[in-house]
Amino acid sequence: MIIAAVDIGGSKIALGLVSGEGRLLAESRFATDPAMPYAELVERIRQGLTALSQEGPVSGIGIGCTGRMDAKGVFQANSFLPNLEGRNLAEDLGLAFGVPAAVENDADAAALGEFRWGSGRGSRSMIFVTVSTGIGGGVILGGQLFRGLDGCHPEIGHHVIDPSGPACFCRASGCWESLASGTALGRRGEQMQGEAYGDARRICDLAEQGDPAAQELVQKEARYLGLGLANLITLFAPERIVLGGGLMNRWSLFEAGARAVIRAQCGLVPWQKVSLVRASLGSQTGLLGAAAVWVQRFSAPPTDRG
Ligand SMILES: [Zn+2]
Repeated sequence: MIIAAVDIGGSKIALGLVSGEGRLLAESRFATDPAMPYAELVERIRQGLTALSQEGPVSGIGIGCTGRMDAKGVFQANSFLPNLEGRNLAEDLGLAFGVPAAVENDADAAALGEFRWGSGRGSRSMIFVTVSTGIGGGVILGGQLFRGLDGCHPEIGHHVIDPSGPACFCRASGCWESLASGTALGRRGEQMQGEAYGDARRICDLAEQGDPAAQELVQKEARYLGLGLANLITLFAPERIVLGGGLMNRWSLFEAGARAVIRAQCGLVPWQKVSLVRASLGSQTGLLGAAAVWVQRFSAPPTDRG
């Protein structure tokens, strides 16, 4: 089985072929152009996938895309590709190829990729958390991706940690993203220590070198990360939480502090059994996630689970 994968992001659109075992066989990409008319976008993707699939027929097309869509895959307003609004890309690509196609939000796609072929493999309930400029993720319960009313994607980065915190575009103040994202860490660093501490990666570097101000910032960040993780554990008690995104490459800096918060706060669920693990698909997350969207929707459940 070969699955065609389409990963649509803010700066690039990646195309790939993925085997049924989760191996990336071929890939290509082109730049995301917000002005591209919808028909041209579909055609570019069709041509790109056709060029990749010379070696054999594909069973289906899986798509991961930034932005929101309803349960049928119809896009809502999309800031990166405004011409997607009101369109059903999965349906149109499926028709163009004569194979079934499925689409999910890119965070949900990444969650499915990790669940099937990455660090979530073998679990039945898993929450994928990605911490970089923002905080997002996907929730998988009983082997199924959880969707809310009208197919909406749960926004795990926007539950409130501290109502006196910064205002967020989500309308809340002090949500997890506004306090614990890489952007929030950099902002706090600049406010507390000046411009030299205005970047999350630099703060992590300085903390590793023993800089006391950076270490203090890291401790505070670990506390905010821990608060959000503790809430997810109390709400869902998942078998596994998979941590992805740029800031989680530095998880070792935050782990002890975050775990201390979880230990102190999760009194009602078996938090000791929840494993916190780093994501493992790396740069292939987008394409493997997109392929996993298709597998999850149209293929048999994995056999290595009960
Ligand atoms: Zn928010």
